[in-house]
Amino acid sequence: MSVGRNTTIRDRHRKQIARSKPPCGICGNEIDYGITDHLDPMAYVVDHIIPLNAGGSDTVDNKQAAHRSCNRTKSDHLPDQHTPAGRVFETTRRWW
Ligand SMILES: [Zn+2]
Repeated sequence: MSVGRNTTIRDRHRKQIARSKPPCGICGNEIDYGITDHLDPMAYVVDHIIPLNAGGSDTVDNKQAAHRSCNRTKSDHLPDQHTPAGRVFETTRRWW
């Protein structure tokens, strides 16, 4: 079985994660799961805790809920800055 991007599984994971309405795994704030505009920066997206291109798996335990804007911010980071267990993020990030 390859680690492909199966949209059926991905959609199922997405619904599975949304069911418990968890807060954003990146910023920790609540997510409005009622947002239907997927381009809204506060919309719910599925984030890979370990990015696929860093060897992360496309399984639900490697996924978390996140805001769209947070997910995009995170993608600027290098994978080794993320510690899935500790969820410690640097606060010294510069915003330019
Ligand atoms: Zn967030």
